[in-house]
Amino acid sequence: MFSKILVANRGEIAVRIIRGCKRMGVRTVAVYSDADSRSLPVTLADEAYHLGGDRPAESYLNKEKIIDAARVTGCEAIHPGYGFLSENPAFARMTAEAGLIFIGPPADVIATLGDKIAAKKLAAELNIPIVAGHPAPVQSDEEAMAVIEKIGFPVLLKPAAGGGGKGMRVVMQPQELNSALKLCRQETRKAFGDDSIFIERYIEAPRHIEIQVLADHNGRVIHLGERECSIQRRYQKIIEESPSMAVDEELRRKMGAMACDLALRAGYRNAGTVEFILDRNQNFYFLEMNTRLQVEHPVTEMVTGLDLIEWQLRIAGGEKLTLKPEDIRLTGWAIEARICAEDPARNFIPSMGLITRYAEPLGDNIRVDSGVNAGSRVHVFYDSMLAKLICWGTDRETARKTMIQALNGYHIEGVSSNVDFANQVINHPAFIRGELTTDFIADHLLREDAKLPPPLEQLHCMVMATTLIYHLRVALVRNSLLPLKSQVGGAMTPEKYHDYVTKSENDIFNIRLRQMPAELEWEFQLGDKTYQVKTPPLEFFRRRLKLIINNEPNMFRLRYDGNFIEAAFCGIIRTFEIYEPREWELARYMPPPARRTRENVLESPMPGLVVEINVKSGDRVYRGQELVVIESMKMESAVASPCDGIVDSIHIKPGDTVETGMVLMGFK
Ligand code: ADP
Ligand code: ADP
Ligand code: MG
Repeated sequence: MFSKILVANRGEIAVRIIRGCKRMGVRTVAVYSDADSRSLPVTLADEAYHLGGDRPAESYLNKEKIIDAARVTGCEAIHPGYGFLSENPAFARMTAEAGLIFIGPPADVIATLGDKIAAKKLAAELNIPIVAGHPAPVQSDEEAMAVIEKIGFPVLLKPAAGGGGKGMRVVMQPQELNSALKLCRQETRKAFGDDSIFIERYIEAPRHIEIQVLADHNGRVIHLGERECSIQRRYQKIIEESPSMAVDEELRRKMGAMACDLALRAGYRNAGTVEFILDRNQNFYFLEMNTRLQVEHPVTEMVTGLDLIEWQLRIAGGEKLTLKPEDIRLTGWAIEARICAEDPARNFIPSMGLITRYAEPLGDNIRVDSGVNAGSRVHVFYDSMLAKLICWGTDRETARKTMIQALNGYHIEGVSSNVDFANQVINHPAFIRGELTTDFIADHLLREDAKLPPPLEQLHCMVMATTLIYHLRVALVRNSLLPLKSQVGGAMTPEKYHDYVTKSENDIFNIRLRQMPAELEWEFQLGDKTYQVKTPPLEFFRRRLKLIINNEPNMFRLRYDGNFIEAAFCGIIRTFEIYEPREWELARYMPPPARRTRENVLESPMPGLVVEINVKSGDRVYRGQELVVIESMKMESAVASPCDGIVDSIHIKPGDTVETGMVLMGFK
């Protein structure tokens, strides 16, 4: 085993590798950019080496600097994590030439498999099914049209060097082809520095199923079962699980054998993932092979009990793969949610800044792989993923329930996050039924007409949580300040029950709350339902409340402001207004509070770089039209018009840096 390695990455995965190394007694060197000088991996590693610069090109993508760092600090090997240089054959080659070990496959294997066209060819030679398409980059629009005539619409344009879903475009009909080709080429050139794209038939509403493999120097290859990663937004995975409801023993055996064949034929070494899509009729097609550790590897670790980082290091160190296929057993079920700094309410724009509060969920079968803590800064330069939440259960439903409570208690302040959005996904009836496709989010969560009302039972839980907090924190304090008239001239007669009226959106709930003889126990009457509620002592802190409702523990996130309490639970985010009956009589006649918004200007929703301005002064624009494209955290986001009007003034040009709230345009 190595005695010291360099971790050429940042964030969550750097922390994961460092923790894994600590367990094995391997010392670690973290590298960091200016922006990351006080990041979690830097504090956790045995040593830290400053690469300088903020931008990836100056730091985590700078091959020379990283190899120098490994030499200077006396490391024997480099772990590239995922992203950055992990699939860069030149870097793997330079590492080897510097006399260091690259923890991953050999450079030429990365080169072959990293080219999707070459990888498809190799798969086809092994009779692995591939999506119908064209086995070479298309040079011209005419050639593209000729190819499509053979395979038929709809098609998908794909960058050969692709990754992270970047540049891919679906084309449904001939008239969309020209502009789609142009946009795909542009994005591909920008993201990968090469614009070769190819065409493949677009499989409608498939599942994404992938197989984890491990291979050693002696040509031994095994697979560790599948992961289902169908819950995606813009081809990026959000929720992953292992095993998959769509894969039975027979299919697992078939896909696993093909994944192993491909790895063997490619001369693969170390951990890798073979990705497939599965159509409605259980046909599967090879997509690509990722020659590195995947973001979602923890779900495989949770069901197999193996540590993939450990195996990566052991294989890279020359050890034999002693695991045999019959040793691999998938036990129970694991689900992972990627926790990202983004704002689902504003079209998922990245969110940046200082994390002012950060409290991870704790508990049995809950694992959090995080790259941040309170006080961390989320920067524009890097990916928006902060952490991963992984939950295990004896079966899928148990894992899902643990995940719901864990997400309910995940508290992040300072930046927006997708915690509640992830919870919405796993609470959706179609998710519960396991009806997953890569269109799940678009079909079930983003379409206005697909939105479901929250289940009454969950709303009731939220009503009880908010009303109880109001009762304990506000009403009791206020009542204690009343003249002590009940105490004058006799014993105090405590009230037997308290009535409240709680309103949220158009729902109005009449509540009767009764304190039980045991301390911290309550009975709630809500319409014709009665609930027994317990508050474990000291379980309301950091804005999180734990309540045992009818013997089931539930976590809530709450934030109160007088009669208004904002609550998040099971993916539902709502504000509740709580009144005593006599207050309610008055409150219901009050006009709703007025909102002040600036409608005649376009403000930047985030800091970033102006990439494109789609309109000019004098243009007529309509509400929701995308006017400006801003790049931030590797993502391009369009900023939409807040109103219908005419562009009066433009205060920016492409290339400008902008801050949150800066006025970009004015309207008439
Ligand atoms: P990347 O390198 O960006 O990961 P992939 O080829 O792995 O690209 O595809 C990413 C995602 O795009 C898949 O998980 C799937 O959702 C979708 N996808 C890719 N190819 C097809 C296809 N031919 N038909 C339908 N969806 C596809
Ligand atoms: P901390 O995050 O360290 O717990 P807070 O600033 O959240 O500190 O406030 C202290 C306590 O008061 C919290 O633990 C919480 O129980 C409660 N609290 C204060 N303000 C609010 C609020 N607006 N909403 C909900 N709880 C609050
Ligand atoms: Mg992929």
